Amino acid sequence: MTGIHFLLTYRCNFECDHCFLYCGPRAAGTFTLEQIRQVLAEAVKIGTIDTIYYEGGEPFLFYPLMVEGVRLARAAGMQTGVVTNAYWATASEDADLWLGPLCKHDLYDLSLSDDVFHSGDEKETSAQRALGSARKLGLPARTICIEEPRVEEGSGSGTGSQEKGQPVVGGDVVFRGRAVDKLAGGLPRRPWKSFTECKREELEDPGRVHVDSFGNVHICQGLSMGNMWERPLSEIVKGYDAKSHPICGPLLRGGPAGLAEEYGVRLEEGYVDECHLCYSVRRALLDKFPKYLGPKQVYGIEE
Ligand code: SF4
Ligand code: SF4
Repeated sequence: MTGIHFLLTYRCNFECDHCFLYCGPRAAGTFTLEQIRQVLAEAVKIGTIDTIYYEGGEPFLFYPLMVEGVRLARAAGMQTGVVTNAYWATASEDADLWLGPLCKHDLYDLSLSDDVFHSGDEKETSAQRALGSARKLGLPARTICIEEPRVEEGSGSGTGSQEKGQPVVGGDVVFRGRAVDKLAGGLPRRPWKSFTECKREELEDPGRVHVDSFGNVHICQGLSMGNMWERPLSEIVKGYDAKSHPICGPLLRGGPAGLAEEYGVRLEEGYVDECHLCYSVRRALLDKFPKYLGPKQVYGIEE
């Protein structure tokens, strides 16, 4: 494992339909400075971590904390990145004001969300203004774009869970979090038994984890190795064994369909993709595995 990604806050000025963490203006869960220090100290103890990211939610909503977090991570010898929706880039020279302090800390990557979910049909998006400013200031920056789901008629390949000639869902939306509740309706589905593999995460040997202020150490959104406020992060990471993890074990053995079968969860006959089934089964198991599944708000449940 080489990366720790802080979910600095679940709060966001947006409430995007495709958000896989259910972030929004009312979401709770923001790191304190002391908690950031604790995580960085544990990251150093792990011994293999070389990259720290600050994400959210929207990390620029807690601007001084984010900048100090970047400074502390650099001081600990890590390369650092930030992911933002760039809401703050209201004009080019204003974007310079926001990015200036980050220049001092040798940022390694600034990722800017730039797509129809974040900017609608604006001609010049705030992400493009931020990108221009970053380039002017010499910050390494890039835009990231999520395409809306679209139905591609008759393009199933006949391999894996795709039946030949059947419609498949294109685009980059990952069907977890709010995306399941807002975007999955009306899309073509495939039988639940066909989803026998997790195709997006390295469950056995994750290259990075996301941590939140509640202590969850996410392997995938809402799927945790354990709670780092109960047991030190370095111990959790070093002791992680996917095969004996109550959720990752079944996922490794039989994918999301295996998870549903091992715990006898029967919900619907069909799902849009692997993640849609996995997330739905995990949501049904929340109360059974509170240590490994959560926080509930990531599953759209307000506590
Ligand atoms: S997708 Fe990004 S910008 Fe949209 S609500 Fe989630 S965190 Fe905020
Ligand atoms: S939601 Fe499940 S199937 Fe999808 S990437 Fe995460 S762990 Fe894998």
